[in-house]
Amino acid sequence: MNEDLQQQLLTCDKEPIHIPGAIQPHGYLLAIDKAAFTIKYMSENISGLTGLSAAELLGHDYKILFEKKNIQLRSSYLSQLKDFADDNEEQKLAALQVKINDKPWFLLAHKSAGNIVLEFEPADTKMDIEIQQVLGASVSQILDGNNINRSLQNAAKKIKEIIHYERIMIYKFWEDGHGEVIAEEKEEDQEAFLGLHYPASDIPKQARELYKINLTRIIADVPATTVPLLAQGTNGNATPLDLTHSSLRAVSPIHIEYLKNMGVLASYSISLIVNNQLWGLIACHNSAPKFIDHKAREATKLIGQILSSAIEYREEESSKNSYRHYTSSINEIIKSLQDNDTIIKALVESSAHIMSLTSAKGLAIVFGNELYTNGITPPTEAITELRDWLAENNDQQIYHTESLSAEYKPAANWVLDASGLLACELSKEMGEYIFWFKPEIIKTVNWAGNPEKLEVKDVNGNIRISPRRSFESWMEQVKQHSDPWTRGEFAAVIKLREDVIQAISLKANQLRLLNEKLQQAYDELDTFSFTISHDLKTPLASVKNYTEILLEENTSFSDDEINMLRRIVKGADKMHVLINEVLAYSRIGRKNITGEEINMNELAEELVTEIRTAYKDIQPAIRVSELPPLYGDRTMLNQLFTNLLSNAVKYSSKKQTPEISFSGENFPHETVYKITDNGIGIDMSFGNQIFDIFKRMSNAASYEGSGVGLSIVKRIVERHNGKIWYESELGNGTVFYLSFPKQRNTL
Ligand code: ADP
Repeated sequence: MNEDLQQQLLTCDKEPIHIPGAIQPHGYLLAIDKAAFTIKYMSENISGLTGLSAAELLGHDYKILFEKKNIQLRSSYLSQLKDFADDNEEQKLAALQVKINDKPWFLLAHKSAGNIVLEFEPADTKMDIEIQQVLGASVSQILDGNNINRSLQNAAKKIKEIIHYERIMIYKFWEDGHGEVIAEEKEEDQEAFLGLHYPASDIPKQARELYKINLTRIIADVPATTVPLLAQGTNGNATPLDLTHSSLRAVSPIHIEYLKNMGVLASYSISLIVNNQLWGLIACHNSAPKFIDHKAREATKLIGQILSSAIEYREEESSKNSYRHYTSSINEIIKSLQDNDTIIKALVESSAHIMSLTSAKGLAIVFGNELYTNGITPPTEAITELRDWLAENNDQQIYHTESLSAEYKPAANWVLDASGLLACELSKEMGEYIFWFKPEIIKTVNWAGNPEKLEVKDVNGNIRISPRRSFESWMEQVKQHSDPWTRGEFAAVIKLREDVIQAISLKANQLRLLNEKLQQAYDELDTFSFTISHDLKTPLASVKNYTEILLEENTSFSDDEINMLRRIVKGADKMHVLINEVLAYSRIGRKNITGEEINMNELAEELVTEIRTAYKDIQPAIRVSELPPLYGDRTMLNQLFTNLLSNAVKYSSKKQTPEISFSGENFPHETVYKITDNGIGIDMSFGNQIFDIFKRMSNAASYEGSGVGLSIVKRIVERHNGKIWYESELGNGTVFYLSFPKQRNTL
């Protein structure tokens, strides 16, 4: 809507329609002071009824009016009025039938500020019996069965039977305030208005407020000249009389103009109030002036109230049904959130339930680094882009639109699948969302006249809303729009969000607890390893020492016995090594890495010297090429290369000439080292099993070892974010490759 138009609407919204200063000419009005009972206001035409001038009436005791012979009033009414004035609760007095000039009239009394307003209206006694008959049958017919359309239609029909207007329409107000004719009773020769839409501006805001307070309104003769109200001591600044509750209230000239333009000369409407909101109107039109008396209005008001109750009941039923459906779906989702160890797994598993929380045709879940879709959705790249746009531009936890392309241009490429979006933000920082998509529905809205052409300037040049001149049906094709999102859908999605967020924080808490437990377990394992190794090493040392003493000091042992004792010593040594290695292995995972640039040529030289000393009998040929430096933990890398080089020598030691080579090369993103031997080789079908702790190949049985070395190597490589793999041929040797990323900050 353009700004001008909005301004016009505002102007119209400001018209003080409750104090028009005039009444319709079919009745008389006077207002008396609640305390003094003097006449404060009167409609100008009262003089015609009483023969008394305004000067004779205004400011005088109201009884002067009823002393006139032509107004026949029960004397008790005056004391009833006094009681009414004193009663702070009562706002309205029951209508009283009076005779004026021997004709039946209704006298209606209500309070307005410090006044009691008395209104005289003609009564149509002929109608009484008819009303009784129609009303009797109405209730059951309006509440008939489960069909709300039938209830609406019956209500319209009953009202037509009571008031005999040519056209009875039932409007329903949409959430944006515009109205649609959803039921109609009319004369056969009249053009149908059923299905037509009326712009929200046709009924300004303050009129809607009045419709909620005063449930029926009649304009008996649209073109008739209104009768001004005169106030006591009027000098132009008397407080205007508030006619909110008046039945004779003159209506806004704009509205009169509007009705005339529509060809309506009598108009009557009944409010439909559902859950304290103006749900709709029963609007009755007649092409000739036609008054409806108080009794008939009361009867139709009753029909309106019955219909309102029927609608309220229906809406409650359907919202209960949806609630039941949502609750059972949400329960399934909660169950899945509890049963699954990850949120995304739970959401994906229950995606059908999540989708069914709304009438969407497509669903997307963006969580962690994953994107899951179900049903009709935009392409996956488009969903990620949409997510980025939302995270950047939207602060609402629940965002919705029926026309995404109007707000997000790229959506124009996939309007067919997703014109409507309902987005539930789970975490803005992480860009985690659930999206529901509704497809494009091309709707044809039949407007009663072009809703955009409402502007008009009054004589003073002020912009006012136009009393529409044209009601010629105007068709609008609404494209790139989906069906609207309903309040029930929002409620379900808000509830879902609560549950998912609760599950996320629960999972985070569980993870924290688990971490703490793990930390505790690690600490216990540390103490355990130390204790065990200490407790094992001490008796082991005793076993070894005492055996060695036995061997040295006792000369009476036979050769066999000496052999046995030597094997005990050897076994104890082996066990000692094993304990140290297991301890080393258990520590690698937890040890903090202290990174430094290591000169690999120097390190290799030290290692080779050590190895040559250890294998001095074998004289292995170890060739080390120029090695690129490596960034890492010195102790760990020392351990790593010692293990690999020792293995290379050990498993080639039975060859005639063991040949080992150690080389390295720089690549753009990684440094790769290579250790080659010509030893027994590894059966490659074992794959990575050789890196498992205690795993030894059958061809290595005659070589000493514990099966821990390579598992330590693998752990160290992983701690340095590197990779290790090998190539081998049984009997011909093995090549181990090690690759380390060049990026240091990953350590
Ligand atoms: P071990 O103490 O037995 O050498 P490792 O963990 O170092 O334990 O190695 C695991 C197994 O992998 C060895 O038992 C052996 O079967 C095989 N292996 C490791 N390195 C070599 C190699 N260079 N040549 C042949 N086999 C090897």
